[in-house]
This record gives sequence, structure tokens and C-alpha cells, in this order.
Amino acid sequence: MIVLGLETSCDETAAAIVRRRADGTGELLANQILSQMDHAAYGGVVPELAARAHVTHLDALITAALSEAKLDFTDLDGIAATAGPGLIGGVLVGLMTAKGLAFAHGLPLIGVNHLEGHALTARLTDEAPFPYLLLLVSGGHCQLLIVEGVGRYERLGATIDDAVGEAFDKTAKMMGLGYPGGPAVEKAAASGNADRFALPRPLTGREGCDFSFSGLKTAVRKALLDLEEVGPQDKADLAASFQKAVGDILARQTGKALEMAGARLGPAPRLVVAGGVAANRYLRTRLEALCQERGAQLIVPPPKLCTDNGAMIAWAGAERLALGLSDPLDLAARARWPLTDLAAS
Ligand code: ATP
Ligand code: MG
Ligand code: FE
Repeated sequence: MIVLGLETSCDETAAAIVRRRADGTGELLANQILSQMDHAAYGGVVPELAARAHVTHLDALITAALSEAKLDFTDLDGIAATAGPGLIGGVLVGLMTAKGLAFAHGLPLIGVNHLEGHALTARLTDEAPFPYLLLLVSGGHCQLLIVEGVGRYERLGATIDDAVGEAFDKTAKMMGLGYPGGPAVEKAAASGNADRFALPRPLTGREGCDFSFSGLKTAVRKALLDLEEVGPQDKADLAASFQKAVGDILARQTGKALEMAGARLGPAPRLVVAGGVAANRYLRTRLEALCQERGAQLIVPPPKLCTDNGAMIAWAGAERLALGLSDPLDLAARARWPLTDLAAS
């Protein structure tokens, strides 16, 4: 089955086409993406600008995706779009476009939860049978969940304040490293001394596997204020120290979640890491080390499928459609939509 997927929930305008075979394996047939850079000047995403840019670019990206895959609408089995959570103006642009196309071409509409898109991407790129432990680390989220199946998520822990991607973005902003912050911090950290600044690891010693990043962010601010002058090496050292602290926190809490999930993950436990922050190479190596220590298998999609893209939406749509799940044309867009609140298979 072949599905077109549209992603417009933040500042990526994207259209992609995937094939899902009956055996559950997938193939990416087209992947068109436009990362809106106009927000850089503001140091963050401006919702109204983002929504307008989606309107301007989405049609051309859909046409480009069809031509990349050498397909036309008659070859498709369904149209998927992010229905939430996200910036509501942008979500509306993608969802309304998908509704129009589904209606015009007589195809089923699949309204995809953006987080489920991140959560299932590993099944497009790798062999990742259910169940698995999911570490979802993105611009708006930091959660540990057991993924039992499509639509079936049980949350073990989550951030009690900032998302981890947000911590990267704010750290980058404070250091004047630009936007988006994650890749900028990773780049600066590469030439830094990760042991120079003593930054906190919030929630150490506390039960469970929740996360907290706001104290870490404050500590970065304080470290900057304590320096008389902030040169490039100071920034590199601080970025590296920050990244190491994030690595310690993610590895520790994910280790606890592996224990909490225990036998529920079966004899060969799998950890899937998803969301934009999963693109970070240092964090990948930290989680790889954790998995080796615990006898678990680590599965992380390639970096370009960790940050927002259309393929994840097309794929989640295909997984739903394969189970006979689709949505009515009056489906509402949702600004908030937790993964634990999904229609299950
Ligand atoms: P959500 O998925 O929670 O709705 P989002 O869609 O805005 O939020 P994603 O696109 O999944 O988030 O991820 C973007 C985030 O990932 C940003 O905060 C960005 O800084 C971070 N990020 C991207 N690349 C890296 C990297 N190499 N290292 C660390 N963080 C990164
Ligand atoms: Mg983005
Ligand atoms: Fe995302």
C-alpha cells in the first residue's frame, strides 16, 4: 500500500510517499522537505509566519514528491497528514490540504498524531517489531514509553518542565549559537572540554524515570554570567559540558525505564530513540553504550528522519491504514494530543 504524508505542525513543510508491504516492511519512495529558515532572525518559530509559509510551499512539495516517486494520485491508497499536536495554524494547512485531496481522489484520510509519526519511524527504516521501549526526545517532548502496537502507548516517564530539544535550543540562544539550537550545540561541543563546567543532573536519586531540564538551563545561564568574557572556547566547553549532562540524564533515566519495563519487553529488549534530538551523534553513542551494558538492541532512524519530515507521517498513516484505521473528513485538528490518548489498533 502506498501513502502520501504531509507534515506542517511546526517549521518544516514536508510531503513524502512510502510503500508498506504486507510483511510490514517499508520503502521510502519520495521525501520532500522545506525547512523554513525565516524564523532564524527571531530566534524561534513564529507561528503565523510558519502557517503562511506552509500555504505557499505545500502544493509544490506534493507535486515534487509525486514526481520523485514517479507516481500520480491514482497510484495512492491513502492520504495522511499531521492532525496534531503542534502549532494549530500549520496543522490546519496540512490537514485541510489532505482532506481536499482525499475527497477529490476518493482516497481514505488518515489523521496522524505527530508523535506517533516519530514513534513508528524506526519500523520504516529498521526491523523494529512491537513491543519496544521508546525514548522520545524532540523539540516539545521528552518521554519514555512502552510501545505495544500502533496506537498503544504506555508512558513510564516524562519531563516535568522543559523538553530536551527546548533545552538545546535555549542553551544555543543564550550562547548566541543561532537557531535551530540542537545542531549548533552539537557542533560547538565537538571541540569543547565536557568536564570544564560542573552542571547539575536534576532528579538524581529520585524514583521513577521522569526528566527535568530547567535547572540545567539555569545553570548554563549562571555559568555564562560568571565568565567575564565569553570566547569561542568557553562556548565550546559549555556546549560540551551541557551535552554531557544531557547524555548522563538520558542514559540514567532510560536505564531505569528498561528496568521498569522488564519482562514486558520480551527476552530481546529493544530501545528505539526518536525525535529531533535523536539526530545527536554524541547522545546516540551514550545510548549505544547503555544498551550494550544492558543487553538491549538500540534502534535509531537516520538523522534526517529523526527531525520532522513527511516520511514519518506517511509511514504512520500506512501503518494505520494497514490495520483498517482511517478518519472521517470532519476530523478536527488538535493543538494538544498526548500519545496515550490515541485510537488503538
Ligand atoms: P515535537 O516533535 O515534540 O512536536 P518538534 O517537531 O518541533 O517537536 P523535532 O523536529 O522532532 O521537534 O525536533 C526538533 C528539536 O530537535 C529541536 O529542539 C532541535 O534543536 C533538536 N535537534 C535537532 N538536531 C539536533 C542535534 N543534532 N542535537 C540535539 N538536538 C537536536
Ligand atoms: Mg523544525
Ligand atoms: Fe517533531
